[in-house]
Amino acid sequence: METTFYHHLTATSLSGELLSNATCEKLLTASEIGLLPLLDAAYQVRKTYFQNEVQLHILNNAQNGYCPEDCHYCAQASSATADIEAYPLKPDAEILAEAERAYESGAYRYCLVMSGRGPSPKRVAHLAKLIHTVKSRYPIEVCLSAGLVDVESAGVLKASGLDRLNHNLNTSESHYPKICSTHTYQDRMETLQAAQTVGLACCSGVIVGMGEGTDDLIKVAKALRELEVASLPVNFFLPISGTQLVETPTLTPDYCLRVLCLYRFLNPQAEIRIAAGREHHLRSMEVMALYPANSMFIDGYLNAEGSTASRTFQMIRDAGFAIKTNREDLERLKKAEEKRDDVLLKELKVLRPRMESNA
Ligand code: SF4
Repeated sequence: METTFYHHLTATSLSGELLSNATCEKLLTASEIGLLPLLDAAYQVRKTYFQNEVQLHILNNAQNGYCPEDCHYCAQASSATADIEAYPLKPDAEILAEAERAYESGAYRYCLVMSGRGPSPKRVAHLAKLIHTVKSRYPIEVCLSAGLVDVESAGVLKASGLDRLNHNLNTSESHYPKICSTHTYQDRMETLQAAQTVGLACCSGVIVGMGEGTDDLIKVAKALRELEVASLPVNFFLPISGTQLVETPTLTPDYCLRVLCLYRFLNPQAEIRIAAGREHHLRSMEVMALYPANSMFIDGYLNAEGSTASRTFQMIRDAGFAIKTNREDLERLKKAEEKRDDVLLKELKVLRPRMESNA
């Protein structure tokens, strides 16, 4: 592919124009489009708005399971038989202690997530109090994911100091009935509109790999662009045993990276997060995702384990990116960096396995 094609992608994105559906489709699927020049073209856009910084988030799964909804991808759904540890909303002290851990770990943002269709007014008042306490104790951004929310509840949360409300679109409107029957795409859209009505920044993204077509991914990216979301998590579906969607086609690292590039071109100023599934689907190419994306979770997801914090920090620094955090944490992280892994020497049973088995 000629270099003018890649320049066209960068220039169109930076000028605020929209890529055509045909071009979007091509960059996801055409083998003549090279992955490295594509990543570089997306990186030019990322660098313009976010330089080399990476924002780190820590997730707190504040309430696990007991959800009446039937999102087919979710281990907490009423229809799932996944072997998860269900529990009701954690006590305040536990949530506050985890906020402290997030701050101490150098996270830029603390994401409070709970299962369920949506919070009652009583639950909203409780959450508002908690968020206010976190914000008054720690200089950390707070994002809440609590299901469907109306304008009144969004207003209470905004007044508490909440920085962002998360509610993912997940997939396109036409694909939505295939992944959930208890609420609709429109319900999700209305929650995001409620947040916007009260001036709350929106975090909303996608789950790639739920049997959708490339046209669905393009539609979601364009819908999120129209919503002007501040934050856009790109999740890669984790096939957890016991969820209804476990038999979906396998994603390749190449395809995942192309999706991230597409989302960057279409949402140049959004904080694009490589979310769930980065370790599982990107595998040895994980670090390449930092070229289109500028954000990630430090160490794990709602029900699935992820990388360790030290490995995440190391990967970011090894690739020449900088962690966006406050000064105090930077000093602490620097100290952690000074620690080196010991080189382990091979034992005799590894050096001469045949000798052992013949003994
Ligand atoms: S995604 Fe949320 S609403 Fe859907 S089943 Fe899981 S916890 Fe419930």
